[in-house]
Amino acid sequence: MHEEPYTQAMLDLALKKSGGKKISEIRLEVGRFSAIVPASVEVFFRHLSAGTPAQGARLVFHSVPVTLTCTVCQKVLTLEIPPDAPVRPALGTALGRGCTCGEKKLKVSGGLGFDLIGLTVA
Ligand SMILES: [Zn+2]
Repeated sequence: MHEEPYTQAMLDLALKKSGGKKISEIRLEVGRFSAIVPASVEVFFRHLSAGTPAQGARLVFHSVPVTLTCTVCQKVLTLEIPPDAPVRPALGTALGRGCTCGEKKLKVSGGLGFDLIGLTVA
C-alpha cells in the first residue's frame, strides 16, 4: 500500500499545475521497476481526489521500460520484459550477462520512476 503517498504527491502536483481548473485527464509514466501498481494508484486517486478539481479525472498510464547503462562504455540497454512478467529475474539475467563490451558494470538507469507527464484541463 505504498502507492498512497505517491498518489497524494502526484495529485498535489496536478492540482498545482492546473491552477484550480477542472482536470479531465492525467498522464503518468510508471517505470517497470518502480513497484507502483496502476490499479492501486487508481483506488487511492478516487479517494484522495474527491472534492478537488481532479475528481473524476481519467488516469492514463504509460509504462517505461527498465534501462541499464554500462558504466564503462556508456551503452544503454533496454530490457524487454512482457507486461505481466516479473522484473527481477530478467534484470538479474541481464546484469549477469553484462554489457556487449564485455564488462559487467551495468547499473539501472531508467524504469524506476513515477512521473506526471501531462494534464488535460477543462
Ligand atoms: Zn559496456
